Amino acid sequence: MIKINENFLELQDSYLFSTIAKKVADFQKKNPDKKVIKLGIGDVTRPVVPAVIAAMQKAVEEQGKQETFRGYGPEQGYEFLREKIVTFDYYKRGVKLDVDEIFISDGAKCDCGNMGDIFGMDNIVAITDPVYPVYLDTNVMAGRAGKYDLEKGAYENIIYMPATAENEFIPQFPHKIPDMIYLCLPNNPTGTTLTKTELKKWVDYAKKNQAIILFDAAYEAFITEEDVPHTIYEIEGAKEVAIEFRSFSKTAGFTGIRCAYTVVPKELKGYTKTGKEISIHQLWNRRHGTKFNGVSYPVQRAAEAVYTEEGQKQIRENIQYYMENAKIIKEGLKEAGYTVFGGVNAPYIWLKVPEGLTSWEFFDRLLTKANVVGTPGVGFGPSGEGYFRLTAFGTRENTIEAMQRVKKVKI
Ligand code: PLP
Repeated sequence: MIKINENFLELQDSYLFSTIAKKVADFQKKNPDKKVIKLGIGDVTRPVVPAVIAAMQKAVEEQGKQETFRGYGPEQGYEFLREKIVTFDYYKRGVKLDVDEIFISDGAKCDCGNMGDIFGMDNIVAITDPVYPVYLDTNVMAGRAGKYDLEKGAYENIIYMPATAENEFIPQFPHKIPDMIYLCLPNNPTGTTLTKTELKKWVDYAKKNQAIILFDAAYEAFITEEDVPHTIYEIEGAKEVAIEFRSFSKTAGFTGIRCAYTVVPKELKGYTKTGKEISIHQLWNRRHGTKFNGVSYPVQRAAEAVYTEEGQKQIRENIQYYMENAKIIKEGLKEAGYTVFGGVNAPYIWLKVPEGLTSWEFFDRLLTKANVVGTPGVGFGPSGEGYFRLTAFGTRENTIEAMQRVKKVKI
């Protein structure tokens, strides 16, 4: 008899985006004349830049010629791309990494989830709350989360570290010491970050407790403030305690092309039950090489083109476009009387819903009164209740119109 992985039965169905889609569809059916503006999704809308497309097309052509055809590439990624990453994303920020500490993949989502393979089942997991749901769900699947408590809206074995307006979005050290600490900075959904000083405290904490930090920097390219670290390795000692996830998805519009990378420094150590030190880099290299066969050659050439002068100029223009949208949303919401966070170092704006409303009630009112769609904060964790996420990934016209509507209506 085939047995299933019963941990999957502990997963709470994510009704978030399907419920949103259903509510919007119902509304549209009843109000076909109304134009609904969607500022809920976390996907980009600007096309991939010409420098990247040209590089990808050239690489596709190469695949069709005998002299330049390439079959399987290295599972960890081609040197040409890993070298660019080491130079542009790290060396230029004062961080020295070896090329083989970079693992190219087809997405930060998979990397965040797959990384759990190399860690023991009895590790205690801590996540900030609210946060990108993949860290939680993949640990539920692995069996580290335990049972779900319906009343609390939380898993019994997961440490939730609230990051809300009350603590200025700075998660506090939990009472119980975790082994795996997920930090998403700049954060999805709050759009907030930590300064170097704050992040250093986490690095020191992980070091002291022999814990590991799983640092998701998918929104690094959107950072505008000086004292916000672009990589956790800007913090002294971080190579001994942190894995970093990066993605071309939001940085360069690769959500449909798929390319990302993960940094696993060689200094990083884990331990066996008997306390023997083991290289995390070696484990991940083995895991990656066994279960993954590399990102396609044209896609890696496309990612390489992101680092050319032209590529950088073109992707920066798109990032600025989104960040201008973020500014418009932030200012618009403030003028409408809302308390707003984020939107400065990330394409997400996190607003406090008016007193007395839940984030779903706010969703319904915003949809029916302003015909604007966002994401209820509670969908990102229990501490997201009372908040709401809007994204800056829409078009300029829609962003402006959405804010004009929000300013006009009384929620
Ligand atoms: N990490 C965070 C924090 C995200 O918000 C997202 C996508 O929304 C991802 C990772 C996924 O990145 P990728 O497209 O590389 O899988």
